[in-house]
Amino acid sequence: MEFRDLSRQYTADRTQIDKAICSVIQSNRFISGPEVEQLEEKLADYTGVKHCITCANGTDALQLSLMAWKIGKEDAVFVPDFTFFSSGEVVSTVGALPVFVDVDESTFNISSEDLEKKIEQTYVQGKYKPKVIIAVDLFGQPANFIEINRIAKKYGLLVLEDGAQGFGGGIGEKKACSFGNIATTSFFPAKPLGCYGDGGAIFTDSDEWDTILRSLRVHGKGESKYDNIRIGMNSRLDTIQAAILLAKFQQFTERELEDSNKVASEYSLRLNRGVSVPEVCNGFYSSWAQYTIRMENKERRDGLQKLLKESNIPSIVYYQKPMHRQKAFGVHKYNEEDYPVTNSLCDRVLSLPFHPYMKKSEIELVCDMIDRFMKG
Ligand SMILES: *Cc1c(COP(=O)(O)O)cnc(C)c1O
Repeated sequence: MEFRDLSRQYTADRTQIDKAICSVIQSNRFISGPEVEQLEEKLADYTGVKHCITCANGTDALQLSLMAWKIGKEDAVFVPDFTFFSSGEVVSTVGALPVFVDVDESTFNISSEDLEKKIEQTYVQGKYKPKVIIAVDLFGQPANFIEINRIAKKYGLLVLEDGAQGFGGGIGEKKACSFGNIATTSFFPAKPLGCYGDGGAIFTDSDEWDTILRSLRVHGKGESKYDNIRIGMNSRLDTIQAAILLAKFQQFTERELEDSNKVASEYSLRLNRGVSVPEVCNGFYSSWAQYTIRMENKERRDGLQKLLKESNIPSIVYYQKPMHRQKAFGVHKYNEEDYPVTNSLCDRVLSLPFHPYMKKSEIELVCDMIDRFMKG
């Protein structure tokens, strides 16, 4: 069994994908070909955001956004403590201070209460100026942007939605990647909408930021690539990846999102009695980047993972280490007691094999093994 079976997806739409790749090779327009713009229009339309700016990967998407806002040395950026490294890394890349915020046990997403507490603390300490909240749509479920946007407004902060795992999700009628002042996503192969390499995108309603971001991704270009008006990056989405995404987009919206939600429901129905299954809030829709259960403690979690492994069932611990404990952020001082929920989750979470092409019999097999562990 694969953890995320990408071959089945390819098999399901092979003709379209092969055709898309070949046509880019034949056109020789490997960089900034017409497919890039077509994809940007499609994604902007889907998310309901005015501008979509594609780039080389989800990490660059975050970094470019902070660069567009000129976030730097004296600024504080609030980031959930339970996330993939990139969400915090980019803050340090631009020279600002990452202030890690604890998360909610049941959604894995940034805690509104702790966010407000950390903002207040930062103001009191007076060393760094609170500027941005990076809220992550972890495992596919959008963060609580109703609360986050209220807090941002109260303190005059900008919101950056890290939708790397959230593309396709939503709250009510609104789609993920439309909730921040700027939102970003990743097309890393294993993300809900993945390409066949690295890729990313930025979303914003602001014409001004759109112009700056398009400049920043091509060496800070002005009139042309050889007229450089700011320090930028080289961060474009390859035309081949754009063509692949265009080919895959249809099955993503027409089938895969729904099928992922069916797989998640089946898991939850089957597992509900033994382990803590992921919870999706009322009115929220998840794109299910991961299906993550919680066990009572580390010993039990590690025990379950071992038993699954012995039966050739892959599982992964997302994430093993809280951000505040990563050595890379070691120059800053974080208090261990500030992160009770993240510290506990890192010991107890386990992500199960998950993708929209999972068969009922495979879900059964995983659940049977979990049942056996719970009884044994
Ligand atoms: C994957 C991921 C990123 C980074 O995306 P890349 O395309 O791999 O650079 C950022 N944030 C989160 C939450 C992610 O899961």
